[in-house]
Amino acid sequence: MDYKNDIGYRKETLKKLLYNIQKSEDLIVKALYDDFKKPEFEAVLTETNYVISELKDTIKNIHKWAKPKRIWPSLLNFPSTDYIYKEPYGKVLVIAPWNYPFQLALCPLISAVAAGNRVVLKPSELTPHTSAIITKIIQKTFHVNHVEVFEGGVEVSSALLAQRWDYIFFTGSVAVGKVVAKAAAENLTPVTLELGGKNPCIIDETADLKLAAKRIVWGKFINAGQTCIAPDYILIQKNMKINFLSFMMEEITKSYGKKMEKSPDFARIINTKNWLRLVNMIDPERVLFGGESDANALYIAPTLLEEPALDSAVMKEEIFGPILPILTYETEDDIKKVISRYEKPLAFYVFSDNKSFAKKLITTYSFGGGCINDTVVHFSNKRLPFGGVGHSGIGAYHGQLSFDIFSHHKGVVKKGNWLDLPMRYAPYKDKLAAIKRILDWL
Ligand code: NAD
Repeated sequence: MDYKNDIGYRKETLKKLLYNIQKSEDLIVKALYDDFKKPEFEAVLTETNYVISELKDTIKNIHKWAKPKRIWPSLLNFPSTDYIYKEPYGKVLVIAPWNYPFQLALCPLISAVAAGNRVVLKPSELTPHTSAIITKIIQKTFHVNHVEVFEGGVEVSSALLAQRWDYIFFTGSVAVGKVVAKAAAENLTPVTLELGGKNPCIIDETADLKLAAKRIVWGKFINAGQTCIAPDYILIQKNMKINFLSFMMEEITKSYGKKMEKSPDFARIINTKNWLRLVNMIDPERVLFGGESDANALYIAPTLLEEPALDSAVMKEEIFGPILPILTYETEDDIKKVISRYEKPLAFYVFSDNKSFAKKLITTYSFGGGCINDTVVHFSNKRLPFGGVGHSGIGAYHGQLSFDIFSHHKGVVKKGNWLDLPMRYAPYKDKLAAIKRILDWL
């Protein structure tokens, strides 16, 4: 079992993982339903199929990604050939959240294994069914000294963070991200922190409102709004609001029916604590649509709120649920006043047919990633880095980048012995003018 040096071994274990996941796909989908009624379509699209596709891509490319990369040498070192070697960090800790509990646990694990590391995974305690099946699959696939799962809550997480790791990959809230960063600093352990934030969605007067409504409803209410890159609030040009609202209501009803609580396509809130947090964000006087809730079913309807105060709870913290505040603006300065109240968001969306307006917003504001004229879908392109900036996270992953973040990149110069230019050696007398001329020329 030489996972550090034997790329063939890593590839074989990933193939075995692929087989075991494919064989258990129905059980994983069922576990996700049992945890918070994640609809089958969403479970397949955003969890099992996403992981399977990531695995296939990794298996296909592992040799190419692992190979030392020859790079253009510096003339200063002539004659030499220069390489970047990718070295596994060693022992990696992956801590996962509950909202996409399969995908966000498995994807970093796959890349950490591909890059040649030992991995310990701590899945979320809030999705016990999914965590249990993850444990089963991992135990069936890997030797316990190679990949191991520790189920449990904060106590387990804290005990793991107290150990020394060579890399920590954390997905979760900003508050716990800070706890992880502090623990990592103790041993100068490098980290990736995939966190959250308040993601704005700006709609100007040139936007195709009907299409915007369709794409916003999907991105906001998938997983009942419990998505780190869901639009958190809308900022729409004042004159467009009435039309936009009617398209939004039409689209929500089309997606989830008139009896939304009966829809098989709408997930539930993860637990009572979050349900209460969300229900308390709904000011009945601001409800334009939805607003209904049921504590026993952990249900909250897709809800639109009209212009909540900026100092209300719903506009203070990340919503992370099916509540969408609709704010308006008249000038670009109004947009700035709202966005600049918050830390840099994980995602940012603009709906506009005005290319220069969209470009201006995308380049003016700092954010993890985003879309023009859509929501959430930037997540699906493996060639785009996925991650936050500032308080929404440190580092990015997906595709080859995931392999790369779990590898130390070792730069190596292989020097030729057939020539040894004397210029750099002491005594330096009379050499300075010549070396300056060479450096200027280079
Ligand atoms: P969380 O931070 O509460 O928990 C995440 C993980 O950390 C869990 O495994 C949990 O057991 C562990 N944990 C919780 N408290 C801890 C503590 N004090 N010390 C050590 N470990 C602790 O997050 P969550 O509620 O599971 O997920 C929701 C948050 O995650 C949202 O803020 C969301 O935006 C963010 N998120 C980000 C991404 C992303 O890719 N950037 C993806 C999904 C979720």
